[in-house]
Parts: sequence; C-alpha cells; structure tokens
Amino acid sequence: MSDCLFCKIVAGEIPCGKVYEDDEVLAFHDIHPFARVHFLIIPKAHVASLADCTTGHGMLLGKMLLLAPRLAREQGLDAGFKTLINTGRGGGQEVFHIHIHVFGGGDPVKRS
Ligand code: AMP
Ligand code: ZN
Repeated sequence: MSDCLFCKIVAGEIPCGKVYEDDEVLAFHDIHPFARVHFLIIPKAHVASLADCTTGHGMLLGKMLLLAPRLAREQGLDAGFKTLINTGRGGGQEVFHIHIHVFGGGDPVKRS
C-alpha cells in the first residue's frame, strides 16, 4: 500500500522510534503518546483493520497480542498496561493499517 503511513514506516521511508522488529511485526513509539509509555504493534504486511482480518490472520494476531506484555515490561511498565485496537472510523481509527496501542505509566490510565 504505497499511500499507507505505516507501510512507509515498515519500508523505512518514514522514521520511527523502534521498540521491536522481526520478520513479521514492528513496534514503535506513538508520535503523540497519551501516557508516559505508548507504543504501537503492527504487522509488516498491510491489513487495514481488525475488521479486515480473517482466520488466516489468527497466528499473526496472536503473536502481536503476546508481544504486548513482553514489550511493555521491557519499556518499564511493570505495574501493567492498557491495550487498544481502534477499528473503523466509528471506532476512532485514523491510520488504516491495523495496530495495537500499548500504553501506561504515570498516573493510572482509567480510560483511553
Ligand atoms: P488510531 O487512531 O488507532 O488509528 O491511531 C493512530 C495512531 O498513530 C495515533 O495514536 C497517532 O499518534 C499515531 N501516529 C500517527 N503517525 C505516526 C508516526 N509517524 N509515528 C508514530 N505514530 C504515529
Ligand atoms: Zn499499510
């Protein structure tokens, strides 16, 4: 997807504050954090949203979700963290390349 912001980050065309990378997944700091720690976990392959996932994406989604506690701990969120997946315009999604928000730290986050 040549016009997708997160695909451009995956391609290295736009810089990011990398948290984690492997052959399938990238995690990087959110540019407008709403907590002391706030990063995004994305698949390298373009998938627009959770609503566009099929059973074939199950392993990838599971891998992304299981990375959240590991990376959160590595970012110092020992006391816990929030996860958020905005889906579709009605769900507040602004970047249409699926991503899991992981955030926390500072005062307890009561809501997103
Ligand atoms: P969403 O509303 O769930 O689609 O969230 C998109 C998130 O992407 C927002 O929290 C933005 O702050 C974040 N974002 C947008 N552009 C960048 C960027 N270049 N690098 C890092 N995060 C970004
Ligand atoms: Zn994309």
